[in-house]
Amino acid sequence: MRKNVIVLGGGGFIGGHLAKKMKNLGHHVRIADIKNHEYFKHEDICHEFILCDLTDPKSVELVINENCDELYQLAADMGGAGYIFSGNNDANVMHNSSLINLNVAKECVVKKVKKVFYSSSACIYPEHNQLDPSNPNCEEGSAYPANPDSEYGWEKLFSERIYFAFNRNYGLDVRVARFHNIFGPQGTWKGGKEKAPAAMIRKVAESKDGDCIEVWGDGSQTRSFLYVSECLEAIERFMEKDFKGPINIGSEEMVTINELAEMAIKLSGKSIKIKNICGDEFIHKYGFPCPLGVKGRNSDNRLFMKEIGWVVSMPLINGMEKTFNWINNQVNGA
Ligand code: NAD
Repeated sequence: MRKNVIVLGGGGFIGGHLAKKMKNLGHHVRIADIKNHEYFKHEDICHEFILCDLTDPKSVELVINENCDELYQLAADMGGAGYIFSGNNDANVMHNSSLINLNVAKECVVKKVKKVFYSSSACIYPEHNQLDPSNPNCEEGSAYPANPDSEYGWEKLFSERIYFAFNRNYGLDVRVARFHNIFGPQGTWKGGKEKAPAAMIRKVAESKDGDCIEVWGDGSQTRSFLYVSECLEAIERFMEKDFKGPINIGSEEMVTINELAEMAIKLSGKSIKIKNICGDEFIHKYGFPCPLGVKGRNSDNRLFMKEIGWVVSMPLINGMEKTFNWINNQVNGA
């Protein structure tokens, strides 16, 4: 069946990939974003691209039309650790993303959108459960009592609650997923909003034999990273089920940040050393404390397996290789 699909934030990384996949599946795709997609041509990913600010309710009224089968809400004021953990963007992150979600949830009810997907984040999980790098707890039920370590996480938690409230009171059919570090080609790789995999790869691609790359923190903090195509498959399977979430979408292959950097170095074939920078040295250089986030984080996929009957399986190195090739091309040409 050909569906009418709206992707909010389709000018961004995951939204762009999602829109492209939907268009390739034969659906009618409308994108709304405050910026054009930097790497995809619009005609390759959608039928309509509406350039607008979704914090403005009038724009949201215009973008969300009747007869929408599925709306994917991925628009958010966000970036990597340097953007969301430095504290410098807290007011904008909370204000802009909350307004978007308040506008969108209401308009979806007005226009009787059939199903809404909301992308929350692993950043909602309590800091106190993620102090041990080798044993973090990100089980879905552990979110409360809430204690996210960033305003970005608090906004996501608030917005999860908006969608569930609209479900309870107005019957809005929602699916809420908590993404854990999604990465891949056609994502931000420079400029301060890039995430760890892209940042590591860029630094390596810009270096030559014998150089040293800087890695923030002491390198022992752990994370897991999910390649974007696996994320899209997880979203698709989740949307087909009645279960509404919240549910983790992430990889369970946990690595330290230094291991991630070493992977990028190995893929380059160059001989590059890692220099970890933190504490006073970091403050002296950048003028603010090292924005690390929690000590450890890993996806817990037991609920996904139970409710959706499937789990992601691509090894991190495979996704890193695809991403390395793309970023290396951006930096050094084909
Ligand atoms: P992204 O920054 O590439 O995409 C977000 C898009 O939202 C951008 O294109 C941006 O221009 C758009 N946007 C921001 N403010 C807007 C506004 N006022 N009006 C219209 N558009 C606006 O990020 P992404 O990595 O593709 O993430 C997509 C979603 O998934 C976000 O909600 C993000 O918080 C969530 N998420 C992502 C990750 C990840 O690792 N990438 C992890 C957890 C959660």
